[in-house]
Amino acid sequence: MKPSALPAELSDTARAYAVGPHDHLIAGERRGPAAGRTFTTLDPSSGLPIAEVAHGGAEDVDRAVGAARFALEGEWGAMTAPARAARIHRLADLVEEHADELAELEALDNGKPVGLARVIDVRLTVEHLRYFAGWPTKITGQTIPVATPGMHVYTRREPVGVCAQIVPWNFPLLMAAWKVAPALAAGCTVVLKPAEQTPLTALRLGDLAVEAGFPDGTLNVVTGEGDTGALLVEHPGVDKIAFTGSTAVGREIGGKAGRALKRVTLELGGKSPNIVLPDADLDAAIGGSFQAIYYNTGQVCSAGSRLYVHRDQFDEVVSALAQAAGAARVGRGLAQGTQLGPVVSAEQRERVRGYIESGKSEGAELVAGGGVDGGGDGGYFIEPTLFTATSDELTIAREEIFGPVLVALPYGDLEEVARRANDTEYGLAAGVWTRDVGAAHRLAGMLRAGSVYVNAWGMSDAAAPFGGFKASGIGREHGAAGLDAYLEDKTVWVNTG
Ligand code: ADP
Repeated sequence: MKPSALPAELSDTARAYAVGPHDHLIAGERRGPAAGRTFTTLDPSSGLPIAEVAHGGAEDVDRAVGAARFALEGEWGAMTAPARAARIHRLADLVEEHADELAELEALDNGKPVGLARVIDVRLTVEHLRYFAGWPTKITGQTIPVATPGMHVYTRREPVGVCAQIVPWNFPLLMAAWKVAPALAAGCTVVLKPAEQTPLTALRLGDLAVEAGFPDGTLNVVTGEGDTGALLVEHPGVDKIAFTGSTAVGREIGGKAGRALKRVTLELGGKSPNIVLPDADLDAAIGGSFQAIYYNTGQVCSAGSRLYVHRDQFDEVVSALAQAAGAARVGRGLAQGTQLGPVVSAEQRERVRGYIESGKSEGAELVAGGGVDGGGDGGYFIEPTLFTATSDELTIAREEIFGPVLVALPYGDLEEVARRANDTEYGLAAGVWTRDVGAAHRLAGMLRAGSVYVNAWGMSDAAAPFGGFKASGIGREHGAAGLDAYLEDKTVWVNTG
């Protein structure tokens, strides 16, 4: 690969890493693909190749799962809780030391603005690792007061085992950290599979884990496409699967996990309603609603993609949002001043283009954006787009678009908007903008979603559970609930005679 294809802004460090080679990380070593197959990762800001990356086949997956099992039954499994905590803290420190490089790699591979990658993706990754580094020394069982005399009964909380962790391309490093941190805290071992569009930062995280002193095989990274993920899911040596991605693939993985009775957590899609009540601080609601949909170019599972505004404020809110969307700076992830980067791939651009066309043909009114490829440079650029509509039945009001496309819908009263907000197969997030404390709490109780944001959107903290109702997923990440997903309870009965 010619280094000259890479953007001029890249630092020498990030450039040297980006060009590769990008082999799997198995048992603490980089290993080429057993079958010799590779794929090309592309820069979404230019459409040009970044590097060749190993494609994981059956043999690679088998080696990685074997390495994870070996570490689980060996050095990592035998390590004390404080020693585990120290390794995770060390990994957090190393991520922090390499923050600029990781942010650049993320901006290159995913297309997101490098400044946001630094202050959101990398910072939250460090926080996530530090939060879970606090857990190993606090994982305790219970003594149980049973009815049978002479029995001492207690529970042990043991690692669930070898975990296959499959992550998407929208927050490549952060999604990896969301999965890896609780698994390591619980004492599990991991085979991580990053998305084929964005493999670089997960591999770099794996290198840093080796440097942090995790025993070989504790964290393995196998790169590849969907078929590599499927091989991992189906591997008999995998005890638990954690997946973040599309609902379609989540259903498939959930089905396979169910049949094999493997533990599984799924964080899937959404079509999250964002509700502006008549008494809201409109400036805050408009600014928050803009971020809710356009942040990360709309490629966020919890994006606020359905905006419900009371009919009395509808025109005012829509025109302010249209103006803000029109003024937003769309550009390359590594360019100064970019607010919205490109979408991740040509395929994603075509999906979003299809939704924009369906909005127009089904009768929604296009009030901002709609342009695809407006940024030039060969990148996958899409203008922040705003439709208004009166029917919740339009395709753009029902399906997850995963791009910078918002549909605004007017409503009349609170019960009506709650019913319409809940009329979706999804249930990941919901938002309410209001100054009325009672209405805020009433709606928070009525909305069927895993996270409800009041006068805010998209807040995230390693301590606060996150996950979906309904088709948005199974299980929770973050906090004690996130750790539980990596532990098995064992009950020990001791006859004390
Ligand atoms: P998207 O459609 O947004 O690209 P996917 O759900 O297809 O999202 O991808 C998320 C992750 O799941 C990626 O790492 C991808 O390689 C992986 N993946 C895709 N298909 C499968 C599958 N059938 N089994 C396991 N993993 C898969």
